[in-house]
Amino acid sequence: MAKLSVRDVDVSGRRVLMRVDYNVPIEEKNGVIVVNDSTRIKETLPTLNLLTGKGARLILAAHLGRPDGKREPGLSLKPVAEKLAELLGKPVQFVDETVGPKAEAAANALKNGEILVVENVRFHAEEEANDPVFAAQLSRLADVYVNDAFGAAHRAHASTSGVARIIRAWGGQAAAGLLMERELKFLGDELETPARPFVVILGGAKVSDKIKVIDRLLEKADTIIIGGAMAYTFRLAAGGKVGKSLVEADKTAIATSAVNKAKAKGVQFLLPSDNIIATPVKTDKLNKKGKPIFDLQDPRVNVGDIPDDAEGLDIGPASVKAFNDVIAGAKTILWNGPMGMFEDKRFAEGTNAVAQAVVAATQNGGAKSIIGGGDSVKAINKAGLGDKVTFASTGGGASLEFLEGIPLPGVVALNDQP
Ligand code: AMP
Repeated sequence: MAKLSVRDVDVSGRRVLMRVDYNVPIEEKNGVIVVNDSTRIKETLPTLNLLTGKGARLILAAHLGRPDGKREPGLSLKPVAEKLAELLGKPVQFVDETVGPKAEAAANALKNGEILVVENVRFHAEEEANDPVFAAQLSRLADVYVNDAFGAAHRAHASTSGVARIIRAWGGQAAAGLLMERELKFLGDELETPARPFVVILGGAKVSDKIKVIDRLLEKADTIIIGGAMAYTFRLAAGGKVGKSLVEADKTAIATSAVNKAKAKGVQFLLPSDNIIATPVKTDKLNKKGKPIFDLQDPRVNVGDIPDDAEGLDIGPASVKAFNDVIAGAKTILWNGPMGMFEDKRFAEGTNAVAQAVVAATQNGGAKSIIGGGDSVKAINKAGLGDKVTFASTGGGASLEFLEGIPLPGVVALNDQP
């Protein structure tokens, strides 16, 4: 059921509490906290402008980092409010409380079209506990609730779920923001009846993280392409050797059952035929967790079984070609997870080649391309191709859970469309 849209709510002169995802990367520079990447703030501007344009009195609630229920000055949303003001080119107010008399007074003093940011909701342990008293305190800031924080919608917290339920209980409305709507459209509706061929590309570290997505998409896809370390669990399941590669040896049964299900359903299931491997050599250095850092030496192409002393780190050129041929013919593409350890540029070529192929299919072949969040969005942005795909999700865990078909608490809590 589609959710009530922020477009269809009368907000003029009303206090609108909007949950946003302003969990942005920050850094301390010369004793001052600065926002390093304001993408998440920019993504909310269309909803903000729509609401202030209609004369709403806007109160923004968000979390930043993991203060674990304590006030941590370094995780205040004040610098984020300042960045928002800079992006909007107009003042944004900030109150150093999230709920209570001071926050309520600030919300009540807003004039039509003005914006107030309240302090980090996670300074209160009650936020993550979805505490009803805290949710009720939040509800006192507002007449209407809007959720534009798709990235936090998989959490049943007070500011994503509890407050919406309370506002609705006393007859108020809880609506989806424009960004939330786009996420639900592309990760949801568009994949219900995809134009065919529908090609799903899955990568990343673990099969166990993605098996529910694989299982669900086997019902819809024409082809499933598997890359990343995940592919080694499939290789092991098929009796192959994976050397020192990242693998889940105890998850081969789920890999086998996915392959069997694909066969039974007539879904093409593509695994890499070759890899870029390297030899890990222990160094004297330790990482943050105190574990030894390995030097990955002698990157090279390998076909078939991976030697015992080597580690698979990317898909190889023959796999790139095979994957790209399929991607080129796709009409709908969903991509989640990198093809290799793309953070190291020696092992980023497979991921970059897939990104290029997805963009070419979109730009030249008229395919709809949906990048399902997390590291694949990072990779496509790193390659400067973020604006050349149809949609790149802002969610990480939320995108994955949504693709698994799990109802997201932050979405469920909103009113249905009348
Ligand atoms: P995920 O969060 O499951 O999408 O996994 C993304 C992570 O998987 C990235 O940090 C990649 O570096 C990592 N990754 C992908 N392929 C490999 C590989 N072959 N070996 C080691 N790490 C990998």
